[in-house]
Amino acid sequence: MHACTQQQFSAVPAACWQSRQQQQPALAFRRSAAVGGGSSGALAAAAPRAAPCAAARSPRSTQPCRAVAAPEREAPRAAAPSGKPPMKVVIAGAGIGGLVLAVGLLKRGFDVTVLERDMTAIRGEGKYRGPIQIQSNALGALEALDEGVAQRVFEEGCITGDRINGLCDGVTGDWYIKFDTFHPAVDMGLPVTRVISRITLQEILADACREIAGEDVIQNSVNIVDYEQGVDPATGKKIATAIADDGRRFSGDLLVGADGIWSKVRRKMLGDSQPNYSEYTCYTGISDFTPADIDTVGYRVFLGNGKYFVSSDVGGGKMQWYGFHKEPANGTDPPGARKQRLMEIFGSWTHKVTDLLKATPEEAIMRRDIYDRAPIFKWADGRVALLGDSAHAMQPNLGQGGCMAIEDAYQLVLDLCREADEVDKEAAAGPRRDIDVEGVLNGYMMKRVVRAASIHGMAGMAAYMASTYKAYLGEGLGPLEWITKFKIPHPGRVVGQVIMKATMPGTMSRVLGGYRKSLAQSDRVPVCHLADQPRGFPESLFPLYMEDDDALLRASHAYWVLTPVTDGSSASPEALHLEFEAAKHQSPVISREGVTVGTGAGCDMVLTAPTVSEQHARLHQCEAGDYHVTDLDSQLGTWVNSRRLPARVPQRLRPDDVVSFGAPGQGSLDFKVCMFHNSLLESGGRHGSYDRRRAAEPQVALSGK
Ligand SMILES: Cc1cc2nc3c(=O)[nH]c(=O)nc-3n(C[C@H](O)[C@H](O)[C@H](O)COP(=O)(O)OP(=O)(O)OC[C@H]3O[C@@H](n4cnc5c(N)ncnc54)[C@H](O)[C@@H]3O)c2cc1C
Repeated sequence: MHACTQQQFSAVPAACWQSRQQQQPALAFRRSAAVGGGSSGALAAAAPRAAPCAAARSPRSTQPCRAVAAPEREAPRAAAPSGKPPMKVVIAGAGIGGLVLAVGLLKRGFDVTVLERDMTAIRGEGKYRGPIQIQSNALGALEALDEGVAQRVFEEGCITGDRINGLCDGVTGDWYIKFDTFHPAVDMGLPVTRVISRITLQEILADACREIAGEDVIQNSVNIVDYEQGVDPATGKKIATAIADDGRRFSGDLLVGADGIWSKVRRKMLGDSQPNYSEYTCYTGISDFTPADIDTVGYRVFLGNGKYFVSSDVGGGKMQWYGFHKEPANGTDPPGARKQRLMEIFGSWTHKVTDLLKATPEEAIMRRDIYDRAPIFKWADGRVALLGDSAHAMQPNLGQGGCMAIEDAYQLVLDLCREADEVDKEAAAGPRRDIDVEGVLNGYMMKRVVRAASIHGMAGMAAYMASTYKAYLGEGLGPLEWITKFKIPHPGRVVGQVIMKATMPGTMSRVLGGYRKSLAQSDRVPVCHLADQPRGFPESLFPLYMEDDDALLRASHAYWVLTPVTDGSSASPEALHLEFEAAKHQSPVISREGVTVGTGAGCDMVLTAPTVSEQHARLHQCEAGDYHVTDLDSQLGTWVNSRRLPARVPQRLRPDDVVSFGAPGQGSLDFKVCMFHNSLLESGGRHGSYDRRRAAEPQVALSGK
């Protein structure tokens, strides 16, 4: 029997199945009936799977029953039970793809060596150490490969898929289209999408490799520049040899080039070719920041013309953002000037964007040009194969590049194990043949190329969409730009929205669930984890929030205030704090009871300026939860976004609206409508102290909203 059969993918031995059952969460969950439009329902608990857990917990327990402390590890094997040495796999590159492949193979008894050019990239000392979104499809593959490792990723990651995500207008911040990534995961029995620090992810994977095979399994400072294929003179067997720039040679039964977009293995296999510049440079940063709607919104892409901006909760009170801008490659910024540049590019956009920029220290802002490679259909050459970005580097817009690398790794482990088992089976009845490495690598490539190419295509489409968005007719028309002032919705925006609304559910299920059939060949039980429930709001409210922007806005755990409009020239974290302080001192929290504004001593918000009347305006939150301003027959009027309000008629307010007391630009006092997360009141405006995981328990019941 070959080494890998004890952890094989398909036929699960009875003992193994038993132990897996005990490791599975005792309670799987299914989506509530309300989501399908039926009666209201909570996250319903399915029948308990394992008796000990079921006895200990009520089926509606909000806590995950499974408490996997440490991953189960197999002892490294010197030789397979057949007496033959295990297959030797050399992996060039210890990025996400290389490490996931290494874990999967080591766990199944293969002899693995990972060769990394620069280990600091793994430990995060390299430049690009930001978080990465690992979506349901890849989490499912990871779980199928090594449940213990997956469990650690689940615990360390910040769940974004349990909230509303989507695309917004960059200037107004209004929703363009929302994504529900939660229900596709639940419906397909996959873990819910998470964001995790790359450093943490790679550490988890590298630790898992070392636990199985010792420190030397990952070799640092090995820059692979070439490979050869031939015959081992000692054994007469075919081998592949990776060659480092210092002449060191590393031979194995096969070589996997997981060495990223600038892959040297690929260069040798396919000839020299350069990646394509996407025409976008990308600034990125992580900031201590608590958005007002952090409990209801996970990540957002703000769309623009020739620029777009991505923000995502990454847990621990931090937000990650990416600002993409169309410009020639290899641009640089003078020292200390990145934030200023970003404010020039995005300064007129919604405060959801500018607040994040303000909250990021200059030195935490990084910049890189974005490249991809056209899809290729040859990933294998004899005993050498490509995996991850070396085969299919794509634009980052779908957050799927790393996920595809994980799927690749799963497929290769699956195919190698299958072939090894087949050889064992045949050996029981006759002479033992060699493992058909070339056949396996060819099969792996055939199974992966179409999916990788289609995700690559979707990522390209998403990038195109995000960067060619035009809100109003006239945008990008040069001398005709003045037409934008009529605010006529751009036809491209309208048609695009209709098409996306119609196609998004199908696209989501293809991206997240398109690899599910392959996962079904593992012994992974297709359940979504109980802990993956929405925390910010009950699951039954998902459909409402997907449809109704106002309902989603109302659900934010936030209070509303007016902050004095500044010229926006200061982009420091202190500026953000000053805004909070200014709001605290000048504007009371807008409440149900209402807040009066005027020069009169009895007003809640006393403003002394010639443009302000004694009783000028009233702000209040209405019964439904929306916020309004009403002009109280003031002399010079109350204006919202430069439009004078009729007296005594309440006007609905939205975040980012500018309210002016007196005619704007003529000595008026101008305020911006702002939302602050409730936690900021307690922390005195200190961002980054809110831990959503602790603050919000999973929601299992209807809140009665
Ligand atoms: C801005 C941005 C955001 C992204 N966000 C996401 C996201 O949210 N989700 C997602 O799934 N993907 C995302 N991606 C894509 C993702 O980063 C890549 O697809 C993923 O890292 C590919 O993994 P890999 O293992 O194939 O390659 P890499 O992660 O690039 O790893 C390659 C490894 O090989 C090493 N190496 C290189 N050359 C050699 C050599 N000659 N010899 C030895 N070792 C070598 C490198 O040092 C590195 O450790 C994003 C990409 C960008 C640019």
